[in-house]
Parts: sequence; C-alpha cells; structure tokens
Amino acid sequence: MTEPLRFQGKVMSARISERASYWFVSIQVQLTESERQAPERILGVDVGVTALAVDSDGAVFENQKHLAAAQRKLRRLNRWLSRKQTGSKNWSKAKRKLARLHLRIANLRADATHKLTTRLADKASVIVLETLNVAGMLKNHKLSRAIADAAFSDIVCQLSYKAQQVVRTDPFYPSSKTCNGCGWVNRDLTLAERTWICPNCQRALDRDQNAARNIRDEAMRLVSA
Ligand SMILES: [Zn+2]
Repeated sequence: MTEPLRFQGKVMSARISERASYWFVSIQVQLTESERQAPERILGVDVGVTALAVDSDGAVFENQKHLAAAQRKLRRLNRWLSRKQTGSKNWSKAKRKLARLHLRIANLRADATHKLTTRLADKASVIVLETLNVAGMLKNHKLSRAIADAAFSDIVCQLSYKAQQVVRTDPFYPSSKTCNGCGWVNRDLTLAERTWICPNCQRALDRDQNAARNIRDEAMRLVSA
C-alpha cells in the first residue's frame, strides 16, 4: 500500500478485484462503536436535481463539475467508437477506453454520494428524506439523467447505515410547493422555478431550501405525533 489506511482499527479482511484493467483492494476494518456521535437533532434533506442535495441548515451540496465533464467525454467516445470497424484494432482500443471511462464515472459518483452521506450523518442523529418516486421521475425524460446522477437510492442506502435514524416523508406531501413561512400551497409552481415569492406572505423562497425545511418540519410533526 502506498497510502495509509483511512480508518484505524482491526483489519478484518481484504478483497482483490479487477475492473476495466484496474486492480483494486478493498480492506474491511472494524471500528469501535464510539467512532461517530452525531448531535441529537433532526435534519431535513432535499435530494435535488440542480444540486446534489440541500439540507434544512441551508447547506448546498453541489453536483460535481468533473462528473459532467466526464459525461461529455463519454458521449464523444461513444461517437468515436461507432465510427470504428467492429473487431478492428482501433475498435478494441476505443472499447477499452470506454470501459475505463465508465469506471471513472462510477467512482466519481460513489465518491460524491459517500462524502455527502458522511457529512449529513455527522450533522444530525435523525435524517429526514423525501421519498422520491424515482421510477415515476425516470419517465420524465428531462429529469431522468439528473435523477440518475443524484443517485437517490445510493444516498438512501448509505444513510441507512451511516445515520442513527432515517425517516422518509409521505411522497404526496408537497414539500416544494408549501411555503415554509405561512403554509400556503403554491399549486402552480413548476419545476423550472428555482425561486418564488409566496403570494400569501410575500416571503422570497429558494425552492430546494424551502423544501428541505418543510421536510424537517414534517418529520418533527411525524416524530412527535
Ligand atoms: Zn407564505
């Protein structure tokens, strides 16, 4: 190993694997239970389309720029491959490059979601997430890529073992459309509107931040009920 282990503890196992002609070793380390202690509080998280996520403290977790760059490169490489003669030397070369790029994109995604979920789990003991209807959203063509990128299901899965408690809100609760100030429901709000003014109390609202606060408040209501 040329890098030190990220976690101190008893090494339980090591597994060696190969993907796209890269070699990997994954090392399992047993940690003592007192490793992580998040403050006793509720944090609302809105997994977004424009940002990776926004929490009810107002923290914005951006989608990575180099992920978008890698995806542009992927489109270029796919076009390049399509012009090669199947089975030729150049075709094999393009295939290998493509496999490596796919792996890089998967690694970038995993890195982003792991950093996000660790940060969130450190901030609060109870994490509240809106239940996104991912299957339904994938039908919406414009949204599908962004949703896949945000990797909602990965985030849910990672939080379920990193956070002390994960609560999901009702999928039909209008978290984006409800004004966090007065409770007014803006039925006409479209997905394109990133900010809006509440017609009832004139408050200026950031779409994602407002949603995250509503998710947190809804969870407090659910927990105390
Ligand atoms: Zn209002």
